[in-house]
Amino acid sequence: MIEHSLADIAQALASRRISSVELTALYLDRIGRLDPQLNAFITVDRERSLAQARAADERLARGDTQPLTGIPIAHKDIFCAKDWRTTCGSKMLDNFVSPYDATVISRFQQAGAVLLGKTNMDEFAMGSSTETSFHGPTANPWALDRVPGGSSGGSAAAVAARLAPAATGTDTGGSIRQPAALCNLSGMKPTYGVVSRYGMIAFASSLDQAGPLARSAADCALLLNCMAGFDERDSTSLDRPREDFARELTAAAGGRPLAGLRIGLPEQFFGEGCSPDVMQLIEAAIAEYRQLGAETVPLSLPNMGLSVAAYYVIAPAEASSNLARFDGVRYGYRAPAYDDLTDMYCKTRAQGFGAEVKRRILIGTYVLSHGYYDAYYLQAQRIRRLIADDFAEAFRQCDVVLGPTSPSTAFRLGEKAADPVQMYLSDIYTIAVNLAGLPAMSIPCGFAGGLPAGLQLIGNYFTEARLLDIAHRYQQVTDWHRQCPAGHA
Ligand code: GLN
Repeated sequence: MIEHSLADIAQALASRRISSVELTALYLDRIGRLDPQLNAFITVDRERSLAQARAADERLARGDTQPLTGIPIAHKDIFCAKDWRTTCGSKMLDNFVSPYDATVISRFQQAGAVLLGKTNMDEFAMGSSTETSFHGPTANPWALDRVPGGSSGGSAAAVAARLAPAATGTDTGGSIRQPAALCNLSGMKPTYGVVSRYGMIAFASSLDQAGPLARSAADCALLLNCMAGFDERDSTSLDRPREDFARELTAAAGGRPLAGLRIGLPEQFFGEGCSPDVMQLIEAAIAEYRQLGAETVPLSLPNMGLSVAAYYVIAPAEASSNLARFDGVRYGYRAPAYDDLTDMYCKTRAQGFGAEVKRRILIGTYVLSHGYYDAYYLQAQRIRRLIADDFAEAFRQCDVVLGPTSPSTAFRLGEKAADPVQMYLSDIYTIAVNLAGLPAMSIPCGFAGGLPAGLQLIGNYFTEARLLDIAHRYQQVTDWHRQCPAGHA
């Protein structure tokens, strides 16, 4: 059952070959057995998950089902879930039990999915390795001495190790796609505004977007069908007609199904910066796409080289504002001893936040300050516009942009932890997408030295269904995405 697609699991549940309780117990048992070496989960609550599974079995018996009814799903600990501890990977929220559900969580609840547990993450989603978590790092199931990527590293490790059939993540600068690449998963960041941010603890509000982490594009489509949709409680949520993101996946197979597809190859993705072994796999994937009928178009995204710099102004600026709410007054951590109110704020924030979060707050406060706002923040916003314009021009010449997701395979735990700039460069290929608000995916495209690599596909606004189909076509003729790390089958 652990290698089944979500659609096959749904069928097994519908035909009563397995119950949701049995399925949920199977995954809980795997978590109990295998998670101690991975640390992919922050919170698991067996009784609560099994109670949800029993309720799902009743729905299944009544025939009141949706595609995910009875399927256990792991959620990044950034999503508030009612009566569940929701820590966002921080000491600041270590004791926080959410009084309400994020919209993403309530959509899964309405669908009858089972909440399998809350997964580990970089503190407040700041990081590319899951090492900044207050709960300790997560290990990559492909090599336990390596990082799973981040910030959604717990979700990625959990799905890769078959501790969950699928999971949610969030992506502000690459945090779904990069861990997907490093753990051999399919992951999608949708167009900004397609998935509600309500109840998703905010990092950089103009960049944050939730999406699925799963084993295949087809699984991602089913998850996105559940997650996406207008939400009046999120002012940046887009009011669009509902769509079936799996609708293009079933088109006729064989022949040259992607004939006429124009794949744009930006020179900025194929120059220096990417390790040669990863680049070899990307080139092989391009050859595969040509076999499927696609043609390639050389192009340029001239301002992409400025994306990491612009991001590390804009994201910290927004974070410094968003994280002002953690002051020890209303919820979360409060310093045990202090002199007066100001001292309470200072000690609470000094003790409650980790080093990376403090670094971002300091940078953000600095770039927004009176003397520097024009020089840094406004300038970064101008670059953001240029990057979006670069993509607009690219999509006049091609249908999808292709490149690597991450410049390397999984690096060693501790290898970049002391060097923030090296860590920030993990996202050189992903961050421009967030600045432009575009949808993008990472899918498995092979192994280098036994470690998985990811292929990135970037689409124009609202082309999620098309992107999923382009990924799905590749997965019909390759089996990289079916590979499972040793010891986890
Ligand atoms: N690695 C990037 C950062 O640290 C992106 C994180 C994310 O997408 N949440 O900000």
